[in-house]
Amino acid sequence: MHELSLAHSLIEQLLDLAKEHQAERITRVTVTLGPFSGIVRDSFEFGFDNLKQSQPATREAVLKLETPDPVYICLDCNKVSVIPFLVPNDPMDMKYHSLYPKKCPWCCSNRLSPKDGTELILNQVEME
Ligand SMILES: [Zn+2]
Repeated sequence: MHELSLAHSLIEQLLDLAKEHQAERITRVTVTLGPFSGIVRDSFEFGFDNLKQSQPATREAVLKLETPDPVYICLDCNKVSVIPFLVPNDPMDMKYHSLYPKKCPWCCSNRLSPKDGTELILNQVEME
C-alpha cells in the first residue's frame, strides 16, 4: 500500500523533527498533497492515524491535508491554467480529471498536460 508507506515516512520525518527541536510532542501537521500525486486522501489519513499511535511524540498529532487546485499547461499555446476539480475531495474525481483534463481556456485545445502537483509536501509542523 503506497499510502501506508508514505504515512510511515511522514511519521519518521516528524519524529526526526521533534528530536531535532527537543519537542515532546507534535500537535499539528499540515501536508500538501499535489493534485496529481495519485495519493488517496482517506487511505493516507487512515494510515497516519494508525501509525501515529505507536509513538508517544506523534500520538496526539492532528493531520491537516491540503490539496491545491490542479495546474495544466497547454501543449498547443503553452499557456498555464488552473482548472479546479469539480469535487476536490473525491479521489476518484481527481483521477478522472487527471486522465481526462478539460479544455484549454485560451485556445480550446484539449492537449493539456498536468503541471507539477505530483508531490507530497510537509508544510507546517506545530510541536511543544
Ligand atoms: Zn491552449
